[in-house]
Amino acid sequence: MNDYQFEIQRRATKKEKPAFDQLIFGRNFTDHMFVMDYHADKGWHDGRIVPYEPLQIDPSAMVFHYGQSVFEGLKAYLSEDQEVLMFRPYKNMERLNKSNNRLCIPPIDEELAVQALRQLIAVDRDWVPNVEGTSLYIRPFIISTEPYLGVAPSHQYKFIIIMSPVGAYYKEGINPVKIAVQSEYVRAVKGGTGNAKTGGNYAASLKAQEVAEQEGYSQVLWLDGKENKYVEEVGSMNIFFKINGEVVTPELNGSILEGVTRNSVIELIKDWGIPLSERRISIDEIYEAQKNGTLEEAFGTGTAAVISPVGELFWNNEKLTIGGGQTGEIAGKLYETLTGIQKGKVEDKFGWIV
Ligand code: PMP
Repeated sequence: MNDYQFEIQRRATKKEKPAFDQLIFGRNFTDHMFVMDYHADKGWHDGRIVPYEPLQIDPSAMVFHYGQSVFEGLKAYLSEDQEVLMFRPYKNMERLNKSNNRLCIPPIDEELAVQALRQLIAVDRDWVPNVEGTSLYIRPFIISTEPYLGVAPSHQYKFIIIMSPVGAYYKEGINPVKIAVQSEYVRAVKGGTGNAKTGGNYAASLKAQEVAEQEGYSQVLWLDGKENKYVEEVGSMNIFFKINGEVVTPELNGSILEGVTRNSVIELIKDWGIPLSERRISIDEIYEAQKNGTLEEAFGTGTAAVISPVGELFWNNEKLTIGGGQTGEIAGKLYETLTGIQKGKVEDKFGWIV
């Protein structure tokens, strides 16, 4: 199955590794990276594994000016038998191509990208941390590199994969977070780029996040950009609620990112026979459900935290406690099951592990 052989240039000397029990998210990078170039005349070419080092890019490269770029985020885990397990890498590469399409970036070969990941991880295998709760965070991304200041799709790109050992998101088991509903700023609008993983979306989200933090909240609950009424996402996670026995999550409407964890949670919940629907959910419905006691749980889903229970929502100058501020039953079970599958401790009946 491995038809892709990439040239490997190894570092002469290995970098010093950080202590794997004191990792900070996204600060340390492994010894090598994968790089592949695109030129309109040649297509994607010259995939290679090279030492991790700064890039030389022209200051007029289009990515610096108009933000034509996309990225992905996924993780690999060390199993108890010392195997490196990636969680659903094909789903991420599929989403990368959806983002590419939206940003007018030429598609990549998804199989090639997963093979590149396999080979890069093999080269930097000793960077997969082995401490409980840690993992190797993988960041594939594409930038437009043509030196040109016209607003148009670039004719040149680089596809790069870098990797970073990361610590446990929760040091002492999963913990509910406090969330502020954001009704001034929006993350995305229908017809915009909300369902693509592109840098500009994250730049645009910083202001609201800053305001929420100043007010003592860890993340923002985003509402839709048109009516400011329907719940979309929480921070950079998808959001789920359990109302009166049914799990509900906003339907994919073009402004919501299609999370790989979201998709996995939906499959698990359906498999467990718990009623689930993907539909529009207004913030008023959540408010009502909290008032009449039918709002049982709320939680975010994403690669970083896997499951992040919401213990409190701040909305209209009111603090709404959810599930007594504790981790709900479904959130807890999802966390155990997903992290169990990721570490190879729970049977992978959906074939998610590579
Ligand atoms: N929404 C946004 C805006 C995100 O950035 C992410 C993280 N990729 C998610 C949702 C969750 O997606 P995933 O489960 O694939 O990490």
